[in-house]
Amino acid sequence: MVHIASLLYGKTEVAEVEKKCLNAYKKHGVGEVIWLLTGDCNLRCSHCYVGAPRSEELTTAEAMRVVKELVDLDIPVVFLSGGEPLMRKDVFKITKAFNEHGVLTVLSCNGTLLNRDVVAKLKKCGTWFVAIPIYGSQQLHDAITGVCGSYELAAKAIKTCIDEGLNVCVKTLVFSRSYAYIPDLLRRYAEVGVKAFYLCDLIEVGRAHLLKGNRITSEQWKLLIERLVELVKEYGVEVDIGGLPSAAPYIIKRFNVSNKLISPSCPAGRGLLAISPSGKVLPCNFLLDVELGDVKSAKLVDVIESSDALKKLRSPQMFKGPCGRCEFNELCGGCRAKAYVLGDLEGYDPSCLILDENSFSP
Ligand code: SF4
Ligand code: SF4
Repeated sequence: MVHIASLLYGKTEVAEVEKKCLNAYKKHGVGEVIWLLTGDCNLRCSHCYVGAPRSEELTTAEAMRVVKELVDLDIPVVFLSGGEPLMRKDVFKITKAFNEHGVLTVLSCNGTLLNRDVVAKLKKCGTWFVAIPIYGSQQLHDAITGVCGSYELAAKAIKTCIDEGLNVCVKTLVFSRSYAYIPDLLRRYAEVGVKAFYLCDLIEVGRAHLLKGNRITSEQWKLLIERLVELVKEYGVEVDIGGLPSAAPYIIKRFNVSNKLISPSCPAGRGLLAISPSGKVLPCNFLLDVELGDVKSAKLVDVIESSDALKKLRSPQMFKGPCGRCEFNELCGGCRAKAYVLGDLEGYDPSCLILDENSFSP
């Protein structure tokens, strides 16, 4: 995760939350959690990575035990995702419980179920941000989600949330087919009051392995980053880049950033943990096969203390190839999910923006 405004200015609302996450990580071994509440969804997105039989999902009682654990660990922010999190009827109860204990929640949904009643309920429960996807033009969006009319519903949901006073983050997938649309799309939504954007680089896990070969090039990413920095400066929005941790050292070098309070830009296991629909603890939501433990049978703190995979992820200087030798490996470390896709959790990140292609020797 690379929060551009926090990186450039160091004093934004998100930077404050990031600081709290870093402190929680230092204290308890976890700073923020992405909780995939369900594998169930009403869309069929081409890049989706989640899927789990409904029968194995955490019950409400089990979910509430997890809420209590996360509260006890002083986690500042939890992302409630899926699947489509609104397919779980207890999502409001979970959100409310977090809010009552001062934990910020971001509902990361697909936007199609956000009618005015649902938005009002989310607001009442204390939701901090609602993240809604827009993948480009209407045609491209519906082609990606596999459901005609999903763009219109998502666009309408953004407006409803803004009208009702809920913070909105527009999230999008950056790949060859969406690249051309992105600068205009962000500008258009910044103008109507969207406060944050999340742009995720293509990671070929789950169904996204079928999109192999569709990542944009490093040069295209660098051009896009120029546009993103302009957007941050012009509109005062936050822009988060996911799946491309080398964007942090790249921005630091390119814009002479002196901000010292920076958390790892690949936070997999180094701040971030994810929980799967069935309760498996993962270092990152894209590392679905790297199971560290299970919240159904163990406490999160015990999982953190006993996991060998976590120890490996927390020793970036031991990574193989360029990431292990890199001067930025504490800050960046390379996307562990992309390294894993290539066959080695401790391998190198093939999408690095800092190295030229000739440097990628294993
Ligand atoms: S593994 Fe990749 S997607 Fe996961 S947190 Fe790290 S950079 Fe992000
Ligand atoms: S070599 Fe690895 S650790 Fe260094 S900047 Fe590139 S991706 Fe990050």
